[in-house]
Amino acid sequence: MSFSSLVQDLSIRDSNNSGNAAARRPPPGSISTVDDRRSQISRAMSYASTTATSVSISGDISSQLHGGYFHPLARTWQAERQLTKSMLIYPLFITDGDDDMILVPSLPGQHQLSVSRLTSFLEPLVHKGLRSVILFGVPMKAGTKDALGTAADDPEGPVIQAIRLIRRRFPQLYICTDVCLCEYTSHGHCGILRDDGSLNNQLSVDRISDVAVAYAKAGAHCVAPSDMNDGRIRAIKLKLIEEGIAHKTTLMSYSAKFSGCLYGPFREAAGSAPSFGDRKCYQLPPSGRGLARRAIIRDVGEGADILMVKPAGQYLDIISDAKELAKDLPIAAYQVSGEYSMIYAAAKAGVFDLKAMAFESTESILRAGATIVVSYFTPQFLDWLDN
Ligand SMILES: [Zn+2]
Repeated sequence: MSFSSLVQDLSIRDSNNSGNAAARRPPPGSISTVDDRRSQISRAMSYASTTATSVSISGDISSQLHGGYFHPLARTWQAERQLTKSMLIYPLFITDGDDDMILVPSLPGQHQLSVSRLTSFLEPLVHKGLRSVILFGVPMKAGTKDALGTAADDPEGPVIQAIRLIRRRFPQLYICTDVCLCEYTSHGHCGILRDDGSLNNQLSVDRISDVAVAYAKAGAHCVAPSDMNDGRIRAIKLKLIEEGIAHKTTLMSYSAKFSGCLYGPFREAAGSAPSFGDRKCYQLPPSGRGLARRAIIRDVGEGADILMVKPAGQYLDIISDAKELAKDLPIAAYQVSGEYSMIYAAAKAGVFDLKAMAFESTESILRAGATIVVSYFTPQFLDWLDN
């Protein structure tokens, strides 16, 4: 109904009314005054506004939300946590080659780098605001791998050399080191094996805690065991205390690391695919929410300083659980290689815009409860977050 026809409609209705309304009407035959006309318009406006309100509000006034987020700035205020550069950790694959800068085909835009290439690679990123990296060693030389993963803490190996170089060249950069054996073992599993092919938990924990201490002594700010052996957080913490470096080493536990099919591109990048079997007996089963909760509680008790959930996007409920169970610890989440490559592939296929999905997927990780995100999108975010 148009406004003018509404005014007309009300006049007709008034003229047909009886009782009090009729008593207020001018006597028949008198000419309608300007005041009468104004009064009709004002009543029509009030009637229209009441009609509109009753259409859009069914019940409570709290149903009206749009006013809170119509403006771009007001939309950012809806987030409990805003993505900032300092939340991002960038994964780096460090080879033992002399002059490597090799694109990883299944991980678009990501490289395997030798230590010699690190300075020139990191310089522009640090300039743009990169705050933290996590290092993965990629031994490529023949004969480097063995059953014990001896090369993991080789002082001349890629990780320890990279830690030393980064501390020297980029003292402002916070260095995390992944701690595991799978990149260095001939069998590609995350520990030392028994004859039957299963993990020997005690030997594995002994070895992995030694590796963690070696990285910390070389200057890593943070050691992050990803092996999923039982009890490794406690073992590492105790050794860090014994060595007198617990006060300057963050222990970030991959507490809830799920097995699954999202690690393919990483294994190509790190050369860490198991030569037989899989990791389902030590990484968590994708449906195992209760197990993840137990692992989180355990690692808090064993002395973890940060908890990590991995992968991220498919496990937002676990991130939320971690935030609830470990209220006083920072929660990290690793958006893993398969998540990153899927986003890239879908963007390439025209499903969505790459930047839009990079933000959407990362912001949902923050919404779930994480304040630290290990992300292959880090270099792009350093640009995007400036704009
Ligand atoms: Zn591993």
